[in-house]
Amino acid sequence: MIKNKINLKNKYLLFMLFIIFLFIFFFLYRDYKLKETTNIRLNNINKLLNKEKVEEIKKLKNNIKNKNIFLKNLDLKTDSSLTKFVSAKVPFNNKKYIPENLVSISTEFIIDWKWWVQKLRKEAKEALNNMAKNYYRDTWKKIIVVSAYRSYLYQKWIKDRWCPDNLCAKAGYSEHQSGLAVDLWAASTNNDWNKSKVFKSRYKWLKDNAYKYWFTNTYQKWIDIDTYDIEPWHWRYVWEKLAKYLLDNNLTIAQFYNKMEQH
Ligand SMILES: [Zn+2]
Repeated sequence: MIKNKINLKNKYLLFMLFIIFLFIFFFLYRDYKLKETTNIRLNNINKLLNKEKVEEIKKLKNNIKNKNIFLKNLDLKTDSSLTKFVSAKVPFNNKKYIPENLVSISTEFIIDWKWWVQKLRKEAKEALNNMAKNYYRDTWKKIIVVSAYRSYLYQKWIKDRWCPDNLCAKAGYSEHQSGLAVDLWAASTNNDWNKSKVFKSRYKWLKDNAYKYWFTNTYQKWIDIDTYDIEPWHWRYVWEKLAKYLLDNNLTIAQFYNKMEQH
């Protein structure tokens, strides 16, 4: 009887040990499997990331290559080029240049301050209209154009009458003569724009959005660089890649031109 009891006890103990062993085995095995699958997953993720990284580097290299090609091929000199550079020192080749495809700027989203007489080159007008459409969608307000294309004679007329050198170019030296530049809302002073909440919000919108329509704020870095005062109202249509490039590299078109000249 006693023997039996001991045997029973032993069996019970053995059984318990077996169960404990099973538990330990189960947990160790689970841990092992978990580690294994995690490692496989990590390896896969690393492979994926590496692949992406390689792709990214490849893309970057291509971009740099393309950028150099694009920079080299940019036409900053032909009067009719969308990227023609003009400044107080760099005039049009033909100082009396008149763009060929000038069209009226009035649309349902653009107010022409000068009663439907202002014009722009077709490409610039279409881009401005798209920009104005989105400005209207965001703010329920129309874009007002106070100045657009100005002919050689008109520029001469305003220059002779009142406009100082730090605000107006000589005839033959004005971006407005390209038919690609506009003055928006008010061509007053940088100070006025800085003081007013309304102008500040307009400028912020333009800074955030104008590049999408290939416009750049020509004079934004003071007289030493651009030869004119800062003009938050003066926006010039360039060309998609150049507008984006100027923005990405924090350059004005004058700084970009000088950089190109040095190469
Ligand atoms: Zn202007």
